[in-house]
Amino acid sequence: MGKLIVKKFGGTSVADAERIEAVADNIESEINAGNKVTVVLSAMGDSTDDLIKLAKEINPEPDLREYDALVSTGEQISVALLAIALLKRGIKGKSYTAYQLGIKTNSSHSRARILDVEVSKIISELNEGVVPVITGFQGMNESGDITTLGRGGSDTTGVALAAALDADECQIYTDVEGIFTTDPRVYGKARLLKQVSFEEMLELSSSGAKVLQLRAVEYASKFNLPIRVLSSFNEGEGTLVQEEKNIMERPIVSGISSIDTEAKLTIRGVPDIPGVAAKILSPISDAGIEVDVIVQNIGADNTTDFTFTVNEDDTKQAEEILKKTSTTLGGGLIDVDDDIAKISIVGRGMRAHAGVASKMFQALAKSEINISMITTSEIKISVVIKKSEMTKAVAALHDAFDLDKELDE
Ligand code: ASP
Ligand code: MG
Repeated sequence: MGKLIVKKFGGTSVADAERIEAVADNIESEINAGNKVTVVLSAMGDSTDDLIKLAKEINPEPDLREYDALVSTGEQISVALLAIALLKRGIKGKSYTAYQLGIKTNSSHSRARILDVEVSKIISELNEGVVPVITGFQGMNESGDITTLGRGGSDTTGVALAAALDADECQIYTDVEGIFTTDPRVYGKARLLKQVSFEEMLELSSSGAKVLQLRAVEYASKFNLPIRVLSSFNEGEGTLVQEEKNIMERPIVSGISSIDTEAKLTIRGVPDIPGVAAKILSPISDAGIEVDVIVQNIGADNTTDFTFTVNEDDTKQAEEILKKTSTTLGGGLIDVDDDIAKISIVGRGMRAHAGVASKMFQALAKSEINISMITTSEIKISVVIKKSEMTKAVAALHDAFDLDKELDE
């Protein structure tokens, strides 16, 4: 019996008519192999960026209901074009918007979460030999308004549909061959991983790796749905993201992520008393600003320094808020530094090995890289360093942990 496969293709995979024809060929060979296919697409190339730019030309802070109505149109174009290409091949391709299918989300416009995926329509289409081609990245809220799922959200649509359909496979096609030990554009010795666990992928996605949307990984992990990430440009097995217990290899470090789009804010000389961290961070989170790394120094003279990082786009707003906080707390100066990068090493093998942190710090010391902040979790160690040293740090750590070499089993 054939399999049921959900295939999601990203923007570069449907960037022009030629790429759309290539996607249609991919689907045709799957159908010829006796499988059933449901397709989820992103918008063509950079078209979502272009739509956002247009909206911001009119208002830098566009109304979010209308923002969603606008940016969801990109995917409507790609799904219709692919259906046209499939029909030309004699395959019953049929485009659907998330709205037509009733993919329900909450009402957080521009970053909505999927609540419920109604699949009866898709199943009856599949039984009729149809290939449903569905818009990624969007849904509808309770009032019937169009919502979108945040940048990269088509991944989440693909995973959510695969889970709801109980598909045999969920394939996410992109412009890279899979998940690498580190970004190959940052370090040429990066190696393609055959497998990675959900938990590692969550840590990598949340600390800068851009191949899969974080929410898609959360969703897949919750439903224990393996995802295969692969290239629509080159042949290959890609990377299987799956449950840890199915992976035999235990490298100490599986991957290194790097991100240079955060800024560091420090408020100096705040009173070293209970409740201060909450007083500093609450107004920041109330403003919807996400805080990443947090460090509070040992106090001296009953005062302390408090440092945290935010996305660089939020720097100005966070600084304004901190100035007010400093006044009410009787604190001192505020420093802002956007010349930073965060490097994280991630590996499920860290649980069983001591000394990973010291090996990391030694490798950075040998390259004369100064560390300004450190945070750890069970399977991740992150450091904040100078932006200009990011590439050097990634290379030093990749070499120190031998990530270019495949483990012997
Ligand atoms: N087109 C949307 C974006 O560019 C969604 C996606 O590609 O996953 O963010
Ligand atoms: Mg993407």
